[in-house]
Amino acid sequence: MDYPIIAKPLVDEFKVRPNLDDYDRIRAGFHYPDVIKELDGLPGGALNIAYECIDRHIAHGRGDKLCWLWEGKDGSEERYTYADASRMSNQFANVLGKLGIAKGDRVFCFMDRVPELYAAVFGTLKAGCVTGPLFSAFGPDAAGDRLADAGAKVLVTSPDQRAKVAQMKPNLPDLKHIIIVEHGKEPVLEPGELSWNALMKDAATTYDIVRTSPEDPAVMHYTSGTTGKSKGAVHVHQAVLGHYATGKYVLDLHPDDIYWCTADPGWVTGTSYGMFAPHTNGVTSVIYEGGFSASKWYDVIQRHKVTVWYTAPTAIRLLMKAGDEIPKKYDLSSLRYTMSVGEPLNPEAVVWSERVLGLPFHDNWWQTETGSIMIANYPALPIRPGSMGKPMPGIEPGIIDEDGNLKPPGEEGDLALRPGWPSMFRTYWNNESMYRSKFKNGWYITGDRGRMDADGYFWFVGRSDDVINTAGHLVGPFEVESALIEHPAVAEAGVIGKPDPVAMEIVKAFVTLKDGYEPSDKLRGELLQFCRKKLGPGVAPREIDFIA
Ligand code: AMP
Repeated sequence: MDYPIIAKPLVDEFKVRPNLDDYDRIRAGFHYPDVIKELDGLPGGALNIAYECIDRHIAHGRGDKLCWLWEGKDGSEERYTYADASRMSNQFANVLGKLGIAKGDRVFCFMDRVPELYAAVFGTLKAGCVTGPLFSAFGPDAAGDRLADAGAKVLVTSPDQRAKVAQMKPNLPDLKHIIIVEHGKEPVLEPGELSWNALMKDAATTYDIVRTSPEDPAVMHYTSGTTGKSKGAVHVHQAVLGHYATGKYVLDLHPDDIYWCTADPGWVTGTSYGMFAPHTNGVTSVIYEGGFSASKWYDVIQRHKVTVWYTAPTAIRLLMKAGDEIPKKYDLSSLRYTMSVGEPLNPEAVVWSERVLGLPFHDNWWQTETGSIMIANYPALPIRPGSMGKPMPGIEPGIIDEDGNLKPPGEEGDLALRPGWPSMFRTYWNNESMYRSKFKNGWYITGDRGRMDADGYFWFVGRSDDVINTAGHLVGPFEVESALIEHPAVAEAGVIGKPDPVAMEIVKAFVTLKDGYEPSDKLRGELLQFCRKKLGPGVAPREIDFIA
């Protein structure tokens, strides 16, 4: 079926004037280095993401502005101003200093979306350390591999992760401190653990932010490839220019917006767009600790009067599946702009949301390595449902052949980007050769296949490698195969992505058994459980077939 272009620019319907009201004009006048003029920087050419996100607003008299509107799984609500966020992150930066943690050290978080997580990330950045938020549902193998590779010195985590941490710890020789957070409670500590509350209570609330250079590492996010374990993409403080500019032009953030990004900071969207883009733009960010539920999500939008909403195709497909009647029970009139990222957004979803929510989802494209949005559907441009949109100003994508030559419009090829934008990853941690292998003929090769139409809109075709995209999360088959063959019954394992109407792909494994083992439903269940425990439910296979 052909989907009509949503031709009428949304500009007229906007409740505020869009920051990007004329794509061609803004693109022509845009130079990434100029973005720093809209931020502050620090003396001597230094730049620190946490300053630009939090303390800059205080310096400009906006300390009382609401920063985090937090809603816990149990429905409890807490509000934190930019001044609160500054104080808490200062305290955590002081805690790191007291623990002897120095500039450049890796400080990882492994917990749910509680306010302490956000304070820890910004405090880590203020101290000049490298932050690495891990998805709390990772199993001990998935989390442990990442922590070991990063050589993390500090782990901020919660009591419910203790069993996993105990399994990982013997393989983490660099880990010096485990700080335990239990939101709203004082946890009973176990030997070798430190209390977040006690450390924070003793820490000063002022802090002189470390003068990080724009090229100092700031954030590490692990991402999966076809082979080998996941790789840590290293981002630097200069990335903040990308977070700010895309927050302004793609998310269309205005100072009075109530913004909700549904991604977890364990994935790059949850930090770049759950933390850095909204806070450089000084908006109020809703943090909902709970998971997906159609009625709960509509309720969050209604109660917090969310204006700008950034979510993912799997969630949108689940909302569609839940039906058109549920949203009618909620007042969603506060919403003025909705966006999606992480997987292909079906054109049906764009048409559905326009019909049911009154707003079409604007798809955009980027990846862990790019650090910020590269291609997007903008408020001022007609949406072509099914397309990822047009390049962000300052970004030059191309569709290239295997020799790195540009292909003409309409032809499929590798989606590549001209390197040099501020939020681009600077290396894979401990894996410079893998990093180098991603470049050809002056292009960064994204690993995606796509095409550009005659009007300059980019269309996603698929991955050029074996990486599986399940519910917007990349899974490397090797990581899952490695876990499976650790089971005593498994001789060999092969893992693929199987098409799925909701999650786009699910992880499916094919397994041959060692002599003496027979295929059975019981063994299948045991293998599924085995993987879930090691890798976590988001990475483990959903289906297993036995083959001879
Ligand atoms: P990650 O690095 O985990 O954020 O995953 C990035 C990958 O997700 C991209 O390389 C694409 O394969 C996929 N992806 C992200 N956004 C989109 C989109 N809008 N349409 C299609 N695929 C997407």
